[in-house]
Amino acid sequence: MSKLLCAFNESNLAVMGLYDAVYDMYIELKHIYNSTIKQLDTTKLPFPEKVDDMCRNQVRPVMESFISSHTSFFSSDYVKLHINAYGLKGFSMLDTKHGANPLQVIVSYITFRSFLDKFLMVVVRIIAQRRNRQAPYKAINIVFEEVNQYIDSLAAQYRKRIPMSSVNQAPSENNHLFVYSQFSQISCNQKKHHIVPDVFCAEKCDGSGFYSIPIHCCETCGRKFVGKYTLDYYQKEFGPICIVAQKDSTTDSPNAFPCLNQESELHAQGYNVVEGQMSEEERRCLLISLLQSRKMTYFEISRDIKNAIHMQQHLPLRTSAVAKWKRDLEFLSKYIESHSEFK
Ligand SMILES: [Zn+2]
Repeated sequence: MSKLLCAFNESNLAVMGLYDAVYDMYIELKHIYNSTIKQLDTTKLPFPEKVDDMCRNQVRPVMESFISSHTSFFSSDYVKLHINAYGLKGFSMLDTKHGANPLQVIVSYITFRSFLDKFLMVVVRIIAQRRNRQAPYKAINIVFEEVNQYIDSLAAQYRKRIPMSSVNQAPSENNHLFVYSQFSQISCNQKKHHIVPDVFCAEKCDGSGFYSIPIHCCETCGRKFVGKYTLDYYQKEFGPICIVAQKDSTTDSPNAFPCLNQESELHAQGYNVVEGQMSEEERRCLLISLLQSRKMTYFEISRDIKNAIHMQQHLPLRTSAVAKWKRDLEFLSKYIESHSEFK
C-alpha cells in the first residue's frame, strides 16, 4: 500500500469538500488522547497499545458520527456504515519509533497524512467485513483497492465541476466568506441555525475566470462559511480569489489564526506568530534553543516556516503572520552565518 496511492488524501478531500471535516476529526481524536494521557502518571506511562485501549470508547463515537454520515464517499453499496470493534482494531493516534538507544522508544502523534491512511483502513475493514458476510471472501487488500478506486473516481467527478465559466454561472453575489477552523465552533452552529452544504462561485483575482468552492450556508441568517484548510487548498491550487474573508467572531480560539501547519514539527515545538502570544524575542529564543539542543536543524526549521509562507501568502488575513515569518527566516539565516556549526 503505497502512500502515494491512497485516494483519501488532502487534494481529494478538498475537492470533495471534506478536508475541514476530516481535519476536525483528527484534532478531536488528538484531544481525546491528550486528555487521557494527562490523567496518567507521566513517570510511568503505559505502552501505547494500552493508551489506545483507554481511548477507544471516546474515539468510537467521533469516528462513528463521521463514517455514518459520509458513507457515500467510500462506497456506493451501502447507505450507512457503522463503526465496530473489528474496524477499529489496531487503530492508533500514536506513532512509536526507536531512538538511538534501542531501549528508548519515542512516542509521538501521527501526522494528518498518516491519519488519513489509518482512517481509510478502518473504513476498509468495516466494508470488507460487511461484504464478506454475503459475498465470496475477498482479501482486505482487494477491498482496499476497490474503495481507493471508488474515492478516486468520485473525486474526479467533483474535480470536473470546479472550473466555472461566467457564462453558465454568475459569481455568488455576496463575496463575504466566514472562515472557520472548526465547524462545530461556528456561531450559527452554536445558535442551532439550519446550515446546509453549498457551493460558492469564486472569481479569480486575476480576472481569468471562476471556480467553485464547497462551503456551508446558514439558511437562517444567510452567512456563508468556508473551512480555512479548504480555502487554503483552493487558493494554492487554482489561484487567489476575490473575497472578503471574515473571521467568525466565536471561532476566536487562540490557535486558530494564524499558525503553521498543525503537523509541522516547529508547531509541535510551540513556535507561533499568533498576535499577543509570543513576542519576536521569545520566538527567536525558542528557535535558537531548538538549534542548540539539536531538536531541529536549520533546514527543518526553515522548511516549516517556508511552507507556511507558501501556503498562506495569498491570504489577506495572514499578511502580518507572513511578515513575521519572513523576518524570523531572515534572522535565522544571519544567525547561521555566524554559527555555522548548526548548519
Ligand atoms: Zn446563522
